[in-house]
Amino acid sequence: MKNNLRILDTTLRDGEQTPGVFITSDEKLKIAKKLDMLGVDVIEAGTAITSKGEQKSIKQIVDEKLTAEISSFARPIQKDIDAALKCEVDSIHLVIPTSDLHIQYKLGKTRSEVEEIAVKATEYAKNHGLIIELSTEDATRTEIADLKRLYNKTIDAGAQRLCACDTIGLLTPEKSYEFYKELSQLKKPISVHCHNDFGLAVANTLAALKAGATQAHTTINGIGERAGNTSLEELIMALETLYHKKTNIKTQKFHEMSKLVETISGIKLQPNKAIVGENAFAHESGIHSDGMMKNTSTYEPIKPETVGHKRRFVLGKHVGKKIIHEKVKELGIKINFDQTEKIFQRVKSLSDMGKTVTDVDLQAITEDVLGLDHENLITLEEYTIVSGNKVTPTSSVKLQIANEEKIQADVGVGPVDAAIKAVQKTIKEETNIQLVEYHVDAINGGTDALIDVVIKLKSEDKIITSRSTQPDIITASVEAYLSGVNRIITQNKKIIKKE
Ligand code: MN
Repeated sequence: MKNNLRILDTTLRDGEQTPGVFITSDEKLKIAKKLDMLGVDVIEAGTAITSKGEQKSIKQIVDEKLTAEISSFARPIQKDIDAALKCEVDSIHLVIPTSDLHIQYKLGKTRSEVEEIAVKATEYAKNHGLIIELSTEDATRTEIADLKRLYNKTIDAGAQRLCACDTIGLLTPEKSYEFYKELSQLKKPISVHCHNDFGLAVANTLAALKAGATQAHTTINGIGERAGNTSLEELIMALETLYHKKTNIKTQKFHEMSKLVETISGIKLQPNKAIVGENAFAHESGIHSDGMMKNTSTYEPIKPETVGHKRRFVLGKHVGKKIIHEKVKELGIKINFDQTEKIFQRVKSLSDMGKTVTDVDLQAITEDVLGLDHENLITLEEYTIVSGNKVTPTSSVKLQIANEEKIQADVGVGPVDAAIKAVQKTIKEETNIQLVEYHVDAINGGTDALIDVVIKLKSEDKIITSRSTQPDIITASVEAYLSGVNRIITQNKKIIKKE
């Protein structure tokens, strides 16, 4: 495998071709900046000919003067190349259909006509100062002699890089190796572009790189048409971990990058997605968790920090006692052997009934087993909210704190933020509590859905998780917050002094 591996990322072109995905200009810019930070060599920013909006969006990325080369997809048609030139991109990904099927049915032309068109387009782009990555579409269903002839003609016309596309994902790793080995004999570097129709895109890309391809086309989360493209994060981690090839990609940004693309594209990641999925570093089984606590290598091929992810222990029916002990310790509560046993039995019986035991449940069970009933020292009397599109969201709250009424008001980015800030202001003198996480779910479909708010609060070494489920998001948020605060205060056995 060559050392100078290059990455062309096509999240913004092939990725955006995912059915149902539309990415706005500003969102494209956000992704492009992150891809640049990640260290990819080429960003395929879109297809300039598509629309005025697409051109604006590519130009916006070009104007950002990123380190990466910025490229536009183009057919071998002058107006496509002119559109790319207008955006002032560094290069074009010039794509020529080459299989009999594509030439006959899609283009209705002969092979020699297509070759002529490809040469002309290459010359035209070259004369206008563009770098040309000459790509063959449906290459893996094209006779290798036909491919080589086309590549040689376009190299003579000025193509600096070549690419062969497995457009409908028909390669196997063995075929991929043979195919790209043949093409790496050509005078210019060859790129590999794979699709994941049989779940083999990463494997086929690895085989191509082993055979001598020097650049891989990828997308974040493997998004793309149909079953998608080669996933950048999977490819790089396989290269680094399994092939011991250091790349220039900043892998610690993978999880963050993946989340950004998930949010912007609206394509939800499957939990078991390799490297960046929700469960990629989650453990439930008692045997696994026990091994993990002794040495994380027992059941993890890479450390989650390597890709900016987090390890997670799930409390289910396979849970072990050690993990219970550990998780309760994280709550800032010390338990002995007997208490661990009791909590363990309660968690087991809940999960036997098919219930996933959340952090909130574990906390409630622990408090119950330990007899840590909490008092509602702080209670909500009333709150008001003023919000709208032309007013600053403002909230006032009235709380009862140890038999005394206290009122405060504050503003925020939205009504929830304003209400929580007003509550924090009211109790500021009593506690030193930070909000570390806020999570909201709508439990059922409509706008009248029940809202489930889960909040994590931190006080010194204690972390408290609390929850409230209400039809109103603000009430749910304030109640979850106050319930957590009351727990912390009770546990700290802090006596609230009257002013
Ligand atoms: Mn493609």
